[in-house]
Amino acid sequence: MKELLRANIANLIPYSCARNDFVGEAEVYLDANENWRDFVGDQGRNRYPDPLSTHIRRALAEVLDLPFANTVIGNGSDELIDNLFRCFCNPGKDRTIIMSPTYGAYRVFADINDVGIDQVPLTSGFAIDFEALQAFLEKEKLERKEGRCKLLFICSPNNPSGNAYPLEQIERVCTLFDGITVVDEAYFDFSSYESAVTLLSRFPNLVVLRTLSKCWALANARVGIAVASKDVCAVLTSMKYPYNVGGPSQELALKALAQGAQVEATKKETLAERARMAAALSGLACVVKVFPSDSNFLLVRVTDANKLYQYLAQRGIIVRNRSRELHCENCLRITVGSRGENDTLLSALKLYKE
Ligand SMILES: *Cc1c(COP(=O)(O)O)cnc(C)c1O
Repeated sequence: MKELLRANIANLIPYSCARNDFVGEAEVYLDANENWRDFVGDQGRNRYPDPLSTHIRRALAEVLDLPFANTVIGNGSDELIDNLFRCFCNPGKDRTIIMSPTYGAYRVFADINDVGIDQVPLTSGFAIDFEALQAFLEKEKLERKEGRCKLLFICSPNNPSGNAYPLEQIERVCTLFDGITVVDEAYFDFSSYESAVTLLSRFPNLVVLRTLSKCWALANARVGIAVASKDVCAVLTSMKYPYNVGGPSQELALKALAQGAQVEATKKETLAERARMAAALSGLACVVKVFPSDSNFLLVRVTDANKLYQYLAQRGIIVRNRSRELHCENCLRITVGSRGENDTLLSALKLYKE
């Protein structure tokens, strides 16, 4: 891992905040230039939060069954994606591998960090193209000069296609690629596949991302988690904003994590609705194909995605038009909502005339 790091990050002397200097409980805190008065409800909002988010990391580790010492919290997993680029990729030199069609944030954060993108597209059936990947990696190794491919993103279950990859395929990618393999498991909770976290002990260059934004119903609070080797966690911790997740968000995360039974029940409802929607959509004249999903959304190929998107939007129903993505011609991505929301969508689609 060390030789993959950017030199400025490897040599970084991290910002040392007051909350890092003193660990423990004290009576009087005059170390952080905070206001002594809390105007918004006496909940300690005048105080800086714990920079290591220890409380929620403990709760996350316990509830999500993650190794506590191998976790870092992000302001959503989006922050962690951005930070991975900033840790490993020298702007204008290093590159990243992206397997389209996939989550758009990888490309955007690569662009923001001036990191080149190498596409190794998924097959038209949204499988990892191992033949193409292997050929690409062999060529890339030979052609390395100033920069190289440092990061590879696998989204499993993949957004927008909805399918997850079996663990042995993730393992194969980790074996083939000598950079940092990032497995984005934002939709993991909706799938029945094994987590890539189980591979961490064998692949120190693996980073697994989780989030409270989807199954844990906390998109508003912005809490993401990276699970990685202790070395990678130490680096991600050293370079992040000291107080990257605010106190209110940390408290909301604790609340959500205490609702495990409800979250599980709602997940079951969502999965039942997913099956019901897939069946109902398949029977409609405007639907060409419903792709299998391991997530809380369905990728649906329709007769005319642009027309159908407009038709639904005029009725106040917003879905995601993904028809310009690779292999997604005439595809809409539809989130599985509440039973009522899903019925509203189905009713509108039944009235649709080509
Ligand atoms: C929604 C989503 C996320 C979540 O991002 P947060 O910043 O944690 O809200 C991450 N990855 C993928 C693929 C997603 O679709």
